[in-house]
Amino acid sequence: LPIIAFDKVSKTYSTGTKAITNLSLKINKGEFVFIVGSSGSGKSTLIKLLLKEIEPSEGNIFVNGKELTRLRRSQIPKHRRGIGVVFQDFRLLKDRNVFENVAFAQRVIQEPIRSIKRKVPSILAEVGLSEKMQVLPKQLSGGEQQRVALARALVNNPVILLADEPTGNLDPKNSWEIMNLLEEVNKKGTTVVIVTHNREIVDAMQKRVITMNKGVLISDETKGGYSYEG
Ligand code: ADP
Ligand code: ADP
Repeated sequence: LPIIAFDKVSKTYSTGTKAITNLSLKINKGEFVFIVGSSGSGKSTLIKLLLKEIEPSEGNIFVNGKELTRLRRSQIPKHRRGIGVVFQDFRLLKDRNVFENVAFAQRVIQEPIRSIKRKVPSILAEVGLSEKMQVLPKQLSGGEQQRVALARALVNNPVILLADEPTGNLDPKNSWEIMNLLEEVNKKGTTVVIVTHNREIVDAMQKRVITMNKGVLISDETKGGYSYEG
């Protein structure tokens, strides 16, 4: 069952740049997918389309059975909550401790306090940060900060976990820790989509690899490697 489907999607920016051309792809529930391609190949545009931060110029995008251009404004927050996002630069709240950074996501959806007190420690335990709940982000290593970001992305149980260059600021050891966590998350049923330049990881993991070049999908391999030299 596709949880994400792009049907003949194109995106031309107001500048005239054609960032995505006639893209069709399906990602099924429970899949683990890498999206690779050199800078400017349309990966960020694809993510923004998926989050409905921008609109396609042509074609249709379906997420969880809903066609995004048909979503009402009032349905957009719910749509975005279904997609947990992790960024290269972590984007944590600098003046809040680890617990509060993760709890914040729950407060936004008005989860009851007792549920927050149960879920936040539980998700932080899953990413191995039980001992760091009262610590500020700056007191953590890059790998630990990314694990906080991952916990925050997961705490509201999204159906899709989207990671935009999640290992971009990490050394190889921490990069592998994050990838192993993402694989665990996927094993529990969450669809995981990772945009990355990390050739070593993509080649080693033997997952589905979608390669973009200049806005065009140039390959889609079930057990792929980072084939495109960009
Ligand atoms: P990434 O997510 O791969 O780090 P960015 O979103 O920072 O990429 O930008 C990717 C490419 O898109 C870059 O070449 C950048 O110059 C270009 N770009 C980003 N925003 C704009 C914009 N508003 N106008 C024109 N080009 C842009
Ligand atoms: P990637 O994330 O793979 O680096 P992008 O999706 O950011 O690629 O960019 C694809 C193309 O669209 C690039 O040529 C980029 O310069 C252009 N682009 C990206 N964002 C904008 C924007 N906001 N306005 C105009 N052009 C953009």
